[in-house]
Amino acid sequence: MTSNSEMERLKRSLPEWVEESRGQAAFGAAASYIPELAKAPNDALGIVVLGRDGDSASAGDTDLAFTLQSISKVFTLILALIDRGEEAVFAKVGMEPSGDNFNSMLKLELVEPGIPFNPLINAGAIVVSSLISGNGPEEKKERILNYFRELTGNDRLGIHSGVYRSESETGHRNRSLAYFLKENGVLDGEVEDVLDVYFHHCAIEVNCAELARMALLIANDGRDPLTGTGILPRRFVQIAKTFMTTCGMYNASGEFAIRAGLPAKSGVSGGILAVVPGRYGIGLVGPALGRKGNSVAGVHLLERMSRAFDWSMF
Ligand code: GLU
Repeated sequence: MTSNSEMERLKRSLPEWVEESRGQAAFGAAASYIPELAKAPNDALGIVVLGRDGDSASAGDTDLAFTLQSISKVFTLILALIDRGEEAVFAKVGMEPSGDNFNSMLKLELVEPGIPFNPLINAGAIVVSSLISGNGPEEKKERILNYFRELTGNDRLGIHSGVYRSESETGHRNRSLAYFLKENGVLDGEVEDVLDVYFHHCAIEVNCAELARMALLIANDGRDPLTGTGILPRRFVQIAKTFMTTCGMYNASGEFAIRAGLPAKSGVSGGILAVVPGRYGIGLVGPALGRKGNSVAGVHLLERMSRAFDWSMF
């Protein structure tokens, strides 16, 4: 099947598949540990699949705006790698799946040398935020926002101030992780400044089409497929894609890699950025999260699509 006819089939099938997967939302619930996130419509489900030629298929609640949350970590990692290089970044963050919850402190004390296991768990992403260049938190936040504006092609991209405030006020666990990392000598700078930068990029607000565009850049090794312009260094995109495969879907990353077979990263807002390497960028949102913290309806839909089209990362 040529990819053109595949796109046509996607366009035809997605509306029905979205409605079927939407029912899965009943088995999950929107995150509530950041109080503002609990306001999301539980049974919403929207998806955009963007091809290299700019053609796209979409269905469901694609107008729903949502915050990037952990999805931002894939791209802040790339920015830190651009700013500091591989050696400096991986001196402070490991490369292994943790097997623990995304906000766990456990291994920071148990396993020497006390650096976070990987850049996609909260501890790792907080360290990554501290490595991004800029003079003080305001300059760093602006720089990161401009970077996401370039990645999404939306120069009006902003943050959801309610979610940002909600997390700043209630993020006690992230605060304790950050102070612990400071004590371990892993985190440089003022802890509250680093956390501010971290909460800020987690609260960047996007829609499915913008997420799909970010995903397509990853799928296309950092090049804009329409213009051929290199936006992100290929080597760092490969690193990010590998982390997405091994740790992108929390403690369901292995299962997702087997069942859907796609590099992906999800966030507690219910967003998922998924990549069909060399072919499509996928952005979806379904706020109801399952036991392991991923959008239940979203995972159901991606697994179905992957089976139907025989997608694979290999
Ligand atoms: N801002 C969220 C937190 O730190 C991100 C978590 C996530 O999406 O996994 O708890």
